Amino acid sequence: MREKLIIGNWKMNGSDAANAELVQGLVAEITDIEGVRIAICPPFPYLAQVRGLIAGTMIRLGAQNLSDRAEGAFTGEVGAAMLADLGCTFALVGHSERRSLYGESDAVVADKFAAALQAGLTPVLCVGETGDERREGTTHGVIARQLQAVVDKVGVSKIAKGVIAYEPVWAIGTGETASPDQAQEVHQALRQLLAAQDHSVADAVQLLYGGSVRADNAAELFAQPDIDGGLIGGASLSAATFASICRSA
Ligand code: PEP
Repeated sequence: MREKLIIGNWKMNGSDAANAELVQGLVAEITDIEGVRIAICPPFPYLAQVRGLIAGTMIRLGAQNLSDRAEGAFTGEVGAAMLADLGCTFALVGHSERRSLYGESDAVVADKFAAALQAGLTPVLCVGETGDERREGTTHGVIARQLQAVVDKVGVSKIAKGVIAYEPVWAIGTGETASPDQAQEVHQALRQLLAAQDHSVADAVQLLYGGSVRADNAAELFAQPDIDGGLIGGASLSAATFASICRSA
């Protein structure tokens, strides 16, 4: 039985004061929740602050990105070991905003996944098709390519040391959520792609859905057999809404 996992991606939002209010609110809201792993991914500058705010709670810390390099002359980059040092458990890898706005290729994403594993972090590999790709009927080919690039880099057995988030690009931040059937269909395809290479990895790996998850649509999505939780963007910026989504899991 796979554990449910809910990860909040704050994106480039927050401030010292706003983070304190959000995290204190969240900590107060989730006291009744059991059996779900919860993590939040603030922007890099606030990782240390949020680490302090969540100390002693069930909430874990994650980063939204990391460098594909270990250390050295890479100005502006943040290495996996630094994130581990700051108390991160998770690191998002290949979020669609990184792929589309910052040109991250499948190869770079695979290097980042490997770098996260190397530092003992749990990489959360984001995959998903654009609206055009879905209309053209290439959804399965796109997610297979994105996943296989990482499998080729680290080997299939290492995939279960990470998490995979299926995030259809057309659903991220748009208010348009994949239907539970649409999401389940792609999650099942991801599991089958892995099963063709290693059954135990396919059974073990947690698959999250992301893309306009809200308090009122979370339960139905998380009830699907191959959906093990969610990656939550906008809705993770409200303590009450994010807690409600965690409760749905
Ligand atoms: C995300 O940023 O990963 C995401 C799923 O965003 P939203 O929930 O706002 O669609």
